[in-house]
Amino acid sequence: MIINTNDLKIYDISMPISYSMPVYKGKEYKRPIISIDGDFTTGSAYETRLELNLHTGTHLDTPKHMIPDGYTLEELDLSKVITACRVLDLTDVRDKITDKDLMKFDIKAGDFILLKTRNSFEDILEKDFVYVDMDGARYLTKLKIKGVGIDSLGIERAQPDHETHISLFNSDVMILEGLMLKDIEEGEYLLSAAPIYIPGAEAAPVRAYLMK
Ligand SMILES: [Zn+2]
Repeated sequence: MIINTNDLKIYDISMPISYSMPVYKGKEYKRPIISIDGDFTTGSAYETRLELNLHTGTHLDTPKHMIPDGYTLEELDLSKVITACRVLDLTDVRDKITDKDLMKFDIKAGDFILLKTRNSFEDILEKDFVYVDMDGARYLTKLKIKGVGIDSLGIERAQPDHETHISLFNSDVMILEGLMLKDIEEGEYLLSAAPIYIPGAEAAPVRAYLMK
């Protein structure tokens, strides 16, 4: 397909990576360390090093994250993360997204949905962020959706048995976390969310963007 870029709008929905960025529950080891391997005082080229927990910032999880024999990034089919998607407005949800919240939308099999919540507007990413509860996750797996993304650093919170992650992984639903959806209106878009390629890894950073 030939894309006329004059008519193409691109919306960046990725978190900037820096030491002081919001990280999951404020955990220190999740903070990126950015250092300089070489600069123009030591040589003729500038080179930066990045030390990064793979669940920091905007990223994709694979089943290995929560399931010991789950698959890892080399088995990811890119057509699952470069795809049509729908942004759903759930900004009125206070604490967690349940099946009842999701039933208001006409979600269909094969949909990739992005959940826009108050996380995108409030400084709660490290604390009491809005997440998808177990019933919400089970509802989505029953519908056989393709993927789900959310504007929190975790799709679950306060679940010692990780029911939300595991239920989605067991149905091979893609999980995107750490999206920035503040300026994105509800509607249909093309999503590009390919992770960097680290064979054997259970997650990887994504430069996620929407196109219309
Ligand atoms: Zn993750």
